[in-house]
Amino acid sequence: MDTIASIATAVGQGGIAVIRISGPEAKNVLSHVFTRKNTKCAMKSRMLTYGWAMDGRTRIDECMAVYMEAPHTYTTEDVAEIQCHGGRVTAQRVLDAVLRSGARLAQPGEFTKRAFLGGRIDLAQAESVMDLIGARTERAAQASLQQMGGYLSGRIHALQDALLDTIAYIEAYLDYPDEDIEPLTAERAAQQAAQVKKELEEALRNARAGRMLTGGVRIVLAGSPNTGKSSLLNCLLREQRAIVTAMAGTTRDVLREELNLNGLPVQLIDTAGLRTADDEVERIGIDRAREEVDRADVVLMVVDSARSLDEEERALLRREGIPLVIALNKKDLDAVTSQEELHLLAPGAAIVRTCAVTGDGVDTLRQALYDTALRGTSPEEAYLTSERHIEAARESVKALQSALGALESATMDCAALDLRAAWEALGTITGQNATEDVVDRIFQKFCLGK
Ligand code: GDP
Repeated sequence: MDTIASIATAVGQGGIAVIRISGPEAKNVLSHVFTRKNTKCAMKSRMLTYGWAMDGRTRIDECMAVYMEAPHTYTTEDVAEIQCHGGRVTAQRVLDAVLRSGARLAQPGEFTKRAFLGGRIDLAQAESVMDLIGARTERAAQASLQQMGGYLSGRIHALQDALLDTIAYIEAYLDYPDEDIEPLTAERAAQQAAQVKKELEEALRNARAGRMLTGGVRIVLAGSPNTGKSSLLNCLLREQRAIVTAMAGTTRDVLREELNLNGLPVQLIDTAGLRTADDEVERIGIDRAREEVDRADVVLMVVDSARSLDEEERALLRREGIPLVIALNKKDLDAVTSQEELHLLAPGAAIVRTCAVTGDGVDTLRQALYDTALRGTSPEEAYLTSERHIEAARESVKALQSALGALESATMDCAALDLRAAWEALGTITGQNATEDVVDRIFQKFCLGK
């Protein structure tokens, strides 16, 4: 292993910047670049020391530095960190001096990759580091922290252990067929495999909620023109202007806004932006709007209570299988469309009466959106958080399904193969048997200095 270095703090102006060095030469590199004020006592591991970062004989900055001896460090290697003043110039000059003293520039995620290769954390824990850095709400941060602590890995190991037991049981039968233990083995193996499958399926259901925690909920705003969609959108966004980023896409694109719904990160997609006067463009727009509705976690449909429903609205209300929240807007005006009428058309939908002019009912609407997004799931129990984990769990379930079929017809050798496949699929989550390119792909997504 060579020695790597990088600026670990965000680029730009700030109080301090941290330059991190890791590898066998870390201490050596530090002693080249950093001069202690008090040279009488030796530099101790894990003790912050005051001094200067030097470029040869020139002082670059007044700094604090620490050296941490392997193996109990972030990377499991010798690590040194220099804290200098923030800002673009100084940190870069210190890094340049470090790079001239025997370290090379670290690739994105390389520090964490070394922690993985050094066996301190597994792949799922490494991924959670990135999730924590990217977390947009407290809940998402909390979920990442739990994963970093090894919760996900613990659950996966338990399921793998159960599968290994079953595999061992079947292999014993295959090795000693004369023992006449077949019926009992097949039945017991099937029970164990079914139990693992059940747990994974539940985990996959909760994963939907988990994905919302980290990736955000997609709420699609739908409804006819002039029902009050823009006004209501403004109401939903108003109280949290500070964290809202409006991203109007290209002219024909869908308008997306981000908001925080009681701790859930939300992407609100306004399909209204798709309508224009041009027929051809409008047709494309309507197709896109329909696609957005299909992909939505929740559809928020705004209905104008002061007029009757049109055909398009009725069609959307009748569509099954979409989690629907209806804002029956303009409640301050005389009602033409009633809650009962909507309920008959869309029995599963939550209906909230609102007035977008005064903001009346908007809090209830927010709660209804939250409840509908998380209905039937336990986000607290979601431990499969990334697309990669979900894919691996699905693959494992598929293999288990096939194993159960084989056990039913007592083709034990096939069952053993399927169970192994199920076990291996789970192993890719923790990295136990992830291929090198999967590992590389994960760390490439990291930011520099982590
Ligand atoms: P959109 O086309 O669906 O985005 O609708 P807008 O938000 O632009 O609203 C259309 C019109 O309805 C505007 O004149 C709004 O001021 C008005 N409006 C929206 N919500 C309400 C409401 O709750 N009560 C009343 N009286 N007028 C509303």
